[in-house]
Amino acid sequence: MKPKLETAESAASTARSARATDLRRFFGDASALARAVPGYVPRPGQAEMAETVWQALSSEAIAVIEAGTGTGKSLAYLIPAIYWAAGGERRVVIATHTINLQEQLVNKDLPAALQATGKEVPFMLVKGRSNYLCRRRLAALADDIGRLHPADRGIFLDLWRTLGTCQYGDRAELKVPCPDELWAELNAQSESCLGQYCPMQQNCFLRKLRQDVSECQIIVVNHHLLLADAAIKDQSQNEAGVLPEYQALIVDEAHHFEEVATGYFGREISYSEWLKLWREVYRRDGKQINGLLVHLRERESRSGDSPGQAARLASIDEVFDWCSRALEAGSEWFETLAGMIVSAGQRQESGERYLRITGNLDDNPNWNAMLSMLQNVETIASKTVALLTDISMRAMADDQLAGRDSDLTLPLALSNVAARIKAAIQTAVEVMTGPHQGKASWIEMVPGRTLTVKVVERPLSVSHLISEKITGQVETAVFTSATLTAANSLKYWQSRVGLDLIPPERVLSKIVPSPFDYQSQLLFGVPVDLPDNRADNFLAKAVAFLYQLLKITRGRAFLLFTSYRMLTAMYDIMKESLAEMGLTPFRQGECDRSVLLEKFKTSGNGVLFAASSFWEGVDVPGEALSCVVLMKLPFAVPTDPLFEARSEEISSNGGNPFAMLSLPQAVLRFKQGFGRLIRRIDDHGAVIVLDNRLVLKPYGRFFFESLPDCRMVKGSSSEVLHVLRDFFGGAGRA
Ligand code: SF4
Repeated sequence: MKPKLETAESAASTARSARATDLRRFFGDASALARAVPGYVPRPGQAEMAETVWQALSSEAIAVIEAGTGTGKSLAYLIPAIYWAAGGERRVVIATHTINLQEQLVNKDLPAALQATGKEVPFMLVKGRSNYLCRRRLAALADDIGRLHPADRGIFLDLWRTLGTCQYGDRAELKVPCPDELWAELNAQSESCLGQYCPMQQNCFLRKLRQDVSECQIIVVNHHLLLADAAIKDQSQNEAGVLPEYQALIVDEAHHFEEVATGYFGREISYSEWLKLWREVYRRDGKQINGLLVHLRERESRSGDSPGQAARLASIDEVFDWCSRALEAGSEWFETLAGMIVSAGQRQESGERYLRITGNLDDNPNWNAMLSMLQNVETIASKTVALLTDISMRAMADDQLAGRDSDLTLPLALSNVAARIKAAIQTAVEVMTGPHQGKASWIEMVPGRTLTVKVVERPLSVSHLISEKITGQVETAVFTSATLTAANSLKYWQSRVGLDLIPPERVLSKIVPSPFDYQSQLLFGVPVDLPDNRADNFLAKAVAFLYQLLKITRGRAFLLFTSYRMLTAMYDIMKESLAEMGLTPFRQGECDRSVLLEKFKTSGNGVLFAASSFWEGVDVPGEALSCVVLMKLPFAVPTDPLFEARSEEISSNGGNPFAMLSLPQAVLRFKQGFGRLIRRIDDHGAVIVLDNRLVLKPYGRFFFESLPDCRMVKGSSSEVLHVLRDFFGGAGRA
């Protein structure tokens, strides 16, 4: 629903009343929120957080708030955000990392907060461009439908028929599920958009979306879209952004922001993208040849015996030759890179291989030969791009002369892809040849999958970029997450996103503890007699311990790994015995994540072996999850190229990369894993860490200091198991 914007007069009166509003009244037992949100439980931390958000918004400050699990963060920022937005003609953008949270905000929390406040503030969810349908690409594919697989042809026609019912062409709103490959040819991604030159611009879904968004005062987006918008506005002096102007920003799930910004401000080009670009120009599909250049030639041949037609056809044929040469030279170069990375790249435990691009490679003859090949690719590709651009321009001029405006689409699309090929080759050359100061550059590949080879560049620091392009562009901002502090300090995180560059008097820092009673709800255990997890006997000892642990907890456990190798080894050893114990083993990747979680929940005795993505963002409240085992402290892999380059930079500036990067990163990740267990006020269970460095190493105290006040047991395996038996038999749930 999109309520109307308030009038200036009513907004002014709202502003006055907002100033007089005691936000705390929304968060009590008999509050309007309690009436609007079924099952609402008042929490003092939520009211405290709302006050800090209001303070930031109303004093043009920047707030950084860590709010422990269960605080009810979203309502704590939505209520002040609604008041703030309703207080004048101003707009707030809320950016989250996950689509789940975006949907929760627009479908549940925002309607409830508006009901509770009695305000009418229009809001909308806006996704990245590639989630929406492009009418021009759809029409182009309709002309070329013969090349689609018969199954896709049916889907395409169904899609076409349901278009009339779509408001914005959002993939999620389409009644027909569209396979990824087909959607990739239809979405409104910016690279394929012809913008003001598009003949379908008047009916463009994105245009309609933009118009409607401009009437909203609260806009919910993801981190990526926020960053994309900032970059586009930066390049076009505010002209072409996706989002209308906004004055306040709230970033939720902010612990991801640095990582997303690093990807966003970086660049890369892969072999598969290279091939995809050329396939748009010219490709063979079985006996058929297709692509923009082919269509242009066909159109030219159909144009009758116009003067100069033979010459134009001859120049198109010449471009075909150049395209083949460029494609071939580039492919040969990527395959050489693949060979090089197999022989010289660093193999990660996950199987991927990396080769850092540093000055050290300059003396390597293979490297220099590969650079010469790249130079040759650049020469051929540049010539081809120039020819493609030239024939596109000429075709456009001919069309305009002949008054065929609607035909402009084809030459425009061709010149657009030519520009993208030019940008791709430029990325490859610049990343390979440097300079590399302030950046990490590398080649990476999944073994045996040559098409995954890519060259990548990432900034070592995004703090200045975020400060300049994000926080520097708004009047006020709020960053929040359940995990921003390491050892009770926000300093590390603030420095990573450039908040240390803002005058300290403008920054409000707040740590809101979780409302949960961890002392009674959670037991934290570390069996200190297990061997170091790099030792040969670790696996056998850990497995023996886990059998006893899982018997006590009756499964209902997540085993969280930092390594797929260890995960696989342990799963293979334990799965049959677990089944014999009457427990149900699950393994990450055996099916879709949400299906897997549902199966785990309904089993009531599941043991899930999982890594990476299950350390965070997974919510299994209730008894189905009663134990979380963290197999190892989650330190970054030292050979990860970005981590390695960042560590080198800290060292070269005289710093200690372990203390300044590795440790705080690991603590934040550890807190995320820890946070999987207690999701509700009535949850109980145990978190067990099978990494005795936590107790034996001096740095272990940083992890302990980062945890909420809870019951702890550090001792031999049998002591830990004994306490666990008591916990699950007594205070904990049986
Ligand atoms: S303006 Fe861009 S997104 Fe919209 S229909 Fe045209 S090409 Fe597609």
